[in-house]
Amino acid sequence: MSEAPSSGTPYPYDAPASQALFDRAAAVTPGGVNSPVRAFRAVGGTPRFMVSGSGPYLTDADGREYVDLVCSWGPMILGHSHPDVIAAVQDAVSRGTSFGTPGEGEVALAEEMVDRIEPLEQVRLVSSGTEATMSAIRLARGFTRRTKVIKFAGCYHGHVDSLLAAAGSGVATFALPDTPGVTGAQAGDTIVLPYNDLESVHEAFHRHPGEIACVITEASPGNMGVVPPQPGFNEGLRDACHKNGALYISDEVMTGFRTSRAGWYGVDGVRPDLMTFGKVMGGGFPAAAFGGRADVMAHLAPAGPVYQAGTLSGNPVATAAGLAQLRLLDEAAYAKVDAVSRTVQTLVTETLTKEGVAHRLQNASNMFSVFFTDREVRNYEDAKRQESFRFTAFFHSMLAQGVYLPPSSFESWFVSTAHDEQAVQRIADALPAAARAAAEATAE
Ligand code: PLP
Repeated sequence: MSEAPSSGTPYPYDAPASQALFDRAAAVTPGGVNSPVRAFRAVGGTPRFMVSGSGPYLTDADGREYVDLVCSWGPMILGHSHPDVIAAVQDAVSRGTSFGTPGEGEVALAEEMVDRIEPLEQVRLVSSGTEATMSAIRLARGFTRRTKVIKFAGCYHGHVDSLLAAAGSGVATFALPDTPGVTGAQAGDTIVLPYNDLESVHEAFHRHPGEIACVITEASPGNMGVVPPQPGFNEGLRDACHKNGALYISDEVMTGFRTSRAGWYGVDGVRPDLMTFGKVMGGGFPAAAFGGRADVMAHLAPAGPVYQAGTLSGNPVATAAGLAQLRLLDEAAYAKVDAVSRTVQTLVTETLTKEGVAHRLQNASNMFSVFFTDREVRNYEDAKRQESFRFTAFFHSMLAQGVYLPPSSFESWFVSTAHDEQAVQRIADALPAAARAAAEATAE
């Protein structure tokens, strides 16, 4: 029997075409979606089924247009359907879609990445951020011949078995402390520590001498909402790793090529041993990567013994899209994204303040999110203390007024170079009513 995912919510079905698609989807796909947060479970109501995107706008199956503040969860930093990216994709497609052989596009994309990020000496292309972090962990274990991994509560690194302990993103949304299907053995070598707490990292190294292969951290977390590292935190992680013979892995799947030309590395300059990428580097296609120190990467097959492979890795269409997007991302493009982001942040915080809504707006370069709390959010425990019911009211008011926010209070908001004055004005026009809705919201 199919589930009716949105029944019982207090939100009217004002999107009949999306609802009809959602009902069809629920019959053939668990929960009606292919990635959990898309189902709107945290906020209720009907997920919008999008049919097209152009610049800063998305259009849903009911023909309604939205200013998009999700940008496909980060990748669409040039907005939707950028003509140069579309042209590069059409050109690549016209020559074939997959060869299962090496090709020039993957070399060019790797060269562009290595050129931008100094510690990235070698890179291996994969198809998703999950694959990138999974492979980086395997490589770190193979290189160090150690088993244990340190990760931080609220950091999400994709749905890698061993990293699905106290993860953020969809796992935060659903408050699943754990997920069935991950065995004790798989999670048992993962040490989960509070974010921004160097003392606990030192203690863990002390308790497990010679056992810890790596520390993996989001370069600047965006999966428990935006919670940037405190000054010195990433440096402290790197130093603790190096003092104890472990590798420092910086997960830049979300921040990579978004927070600057060289991602978060371009912001804080802390040199990782390994890095992971996805999202922006794929230009909206499934392309991701991991890379770093050449001596570590030399352990990867076929150069070395650590196995890793992929039928569609370095796919010619995905690499063409990613390369076209990266080549358009010059300093002027980042200045534009940063400026739009600052404007939207200011509008949001000023409007919420005017309505007397307690909130914290936190940012990491052009990534930002709003926590409905008056206290600083430094880690996952802080993030969970927010009044999420206010976000729900805020979200639905914005949606009804044609602004598409991430459907969870544990996610970053994203803007693009395509968010022009008109798009920003639409956001500004929607904010007062949404702020009032947040102010008037009550916990169930
Ligand atoms: N790492 C980080 C920091 C992410 O934000 C994500 C996805 O949001 C991933 C890894 C997993 O990437 P993917 O969804 O492409 O598997």
